Parts: sequence; structure tokens; C-alpha cells
Amino acid sequence: MAHEPVVPGDTIGILGSGQLGRMLAMAAARLGIKTHIYCPESGPAFDVAARHTMAAYDDDAALAAFAASVKVVTYEFENVPAHTAEFLAQRVPVHPNPRALATTQDRLVEKRFLNDLGIPTAPFMDVTDTGALAHAVANLGRPSILKTRRFGYDGKGQVMIREGSDLTATFRSLGSAPCILEGLVRFSREVSVVAARSADGGFAAFALSENQHEHHILSVTRAPAPALELTAAEAMSMTGRIAEALDYVGVLAVEMFLVDDVGPDGVLRETLVVNEIAPRVHNSGHWTLDGAVTSQFEQHIRAICGFPLGSTRMHGAVEMHNLIGPDVLAWRDLMAQPGACVHLYGKHEARPGRKMGHVTRVLLP
Ligand code: AMP
Repeated sequence: MAHEPVVPGDTIGILGSGQLGRMLAMAAARLGIKTHIYCPESGPAFDVAARHTMAAYDDDAALAAFAASVKVVTYEFENVPAHTAEFLAQRVPVHPNPRALATTQDRLVEKRFLNDLGIPTAPFMDVTDTGALAHAVANLGRPSILKTRRFGYDGKGQVMIREGSDLTATFRSLGSAPCILEGLVRFSREVSVVAARSADGGFAAFALSENQHEHHILSVTRAPAPALELTAAEAMSMTGRIAEALDYVGVLAVEMFLVDDVGPDGVLRETLVVNEIAPRVHNSGHWTLDGAVTSQFEQHIRAICGFPLGSTRMHGAVEMHNLIGPDVLAWRDLMAQPGACVHLYGKHEARPGRKMGHVTRVLLP
């Protein structure tokens, strides 16, 4: 199918109406691109888009009308149903492609894909029932982590298996859904790479970021991450290989564990273990809005529209703090702080655990 190139003034489609869709739409607007958001529920992206459609992901008539109104479709979350992605892909280019989506939606498929590329992950085993779980625990030991293969995020859909944990009850607590058991990685830091690949194979990565979580939700990102130069280069190379193998177009994030160990020669070594791939813009890349020449959101729009990728050069070292739940109530004080770049997502209810905004501080070199 030959498609006309996207030019400023055109409209692109985004599936999902959350804060990521909102920041993508704002970045698109800066490049003269209009957005049409498609989502079953209203959300903060609707407020900043030229058009929106509120319809179910299996409403083929609404999907067909949406596809006819846009030059290219992208998404802000990885749980887009396969049918939706494929239905749209028959009518209009969908980036990242449906295969990238299918690979990253399922933890078992994703880990096998990574290992086939020679990229290390935590040891894992397929768990389909309690018997398979007992077998996996006997192999991987305790503590280990049981995760549903699909639909997990922010620590949801996973449980730690400790000494004395009842395996039947633990498996049931995850709805007896297909799972994997992962061995525990004794990491010293969590890091991520946010990078973009263009249709012609161009690749541009932002600096390695260090991420701190609280209650399984990202709390603080610092970039560049304190890591050996060799480690950062290895993280970039792994991300490039992943993007290439998925024939990926757009921004992706690769979350990794950094493990420190001192070899017999007394020299510090850092090893990277990939935890997961997000086929989308990512919270650990929000700092790029204020801290880099091109933001991850603009980079994604550039990549999916076939525009040149932008520079990922940083303006200085950066710290990004998420405003979670009631943290956002301090917005007035934060706005008064010199050097604090405040981003609010326009959500009304500051429920605990809900991402309401973020604040970036660029520490000038
Ligand atoms: P995930 O949903 O896979 O991103 O996991 C959420 C968080 O749980 C990660 O950011 C880690 O802090 C922790 N975690 C997940 N898997 C492992 C593992 N295999 N070993 C150690 N910690 C893990």
C-alpha cells in the first residue's frame, strides 16, 4: 500500500487519551501536526487535540472512520488489542508496527525474543498452572516473582513468592492467568534507555536514565545515570538491536537492571539485565521535555511522520520528580521555585497512586 508522506498541517491519530497522548499531541502541534485521539474513555489528551472519538476498540465502524481521517496512527499504551492494531494497519500506517506490539504485550514472548537476540533477562519459566508454578519455584528458588504474562503495569499483576508463600493461593491471586516466574535480580540500580528509530533505520538515543520507584511507581528519574561509559554504551547498543529486530518506527523505552559485581581482579563490573520493553514514549523520558534539544514526544512524532530525527543533546544534568496523587496539591509552591519546570496533566481527582504531573529541574553544567 503506497501512502502519501505526512507534512505539517496533516492530522495523525493516537490511540489512548492519557497524559502520554496529551504530551504527544502537544509535541505534534509544535510541528504543525493536528491530532485525532481515539479512546473508549475521555482523558487529558482530549483537551489538547483537534479531534477526538470516544468509541470502543472493537467498534469497526468508528475505527474505519478514524483511519480515514488520519495519515498515520500511533498509540500511547501497549495494551492496544491486536484486532484494533491490525484493523487499522490494513487502512493506514500504524507505528510502531503490530508485531512490535504483540512481542512486547506478552512477557513470555518478550523475554524469549530478547534471549534470542543474546540480550540477558532475569531467568524465567512459563507458568500455566499450580503444578508448573511448583516446578518453576523448585528451579528458580525463593524469593522469586510471579508475573502475569499480559496487562501488568506499575507493579500490578505481580506477586513476590517468599519462604512459606502458598503457591496455589498466590497463583489464584493473579486470577490463575498465564504467568511467568522470574528469578530475583539483585540489582544496584534501575536504568532505562529511551530511543527512537526511523523508517530508514536511523537511531537516536537519549542519555541513560536512572529510575527510582516507590510502591512500584516511578518516583524520580535522573539523567545521565551514574554508570560506567562502557555500560551506557552497552545499554544503547542493546536498545538499537531491539529496535532493529522489531523493525521499529517511533520511540521505545527499555528498562534494565544494573548489577554491580567486583571480579576476582578487584575491578568493578556492571552488568545489564533487561526487564522490559515499552513500545511507546515512557515516564523515564519525561525529562527530555525540558532537558534535551528534542523531547521524546517530538522525537516520536518525527519518527512516525517520516521527519528527520532531532538532536538528543542534553542541556545539563536533569532530575524529574513525578507528582503522584496528592503531591500535585503543592503545584503553587512548585511553580514559585526558580528552575522548576512544572507539568500538570489536567486530571481532576488526585487519587493515591495516580500520575498527576511531573517537575523537571535542569542542573546547568
Ligand atoms: P515490572 O512490572 O516488570 O516493571 O516490575 C516492577 C518492578 O518490580 C521493577 O521496576 C523492579 O523494581 C521490580 N522487579 C521486577 N522484576 C524483578 C526481578 N526479576 N528481580 C528484581 N526486581 C524485580
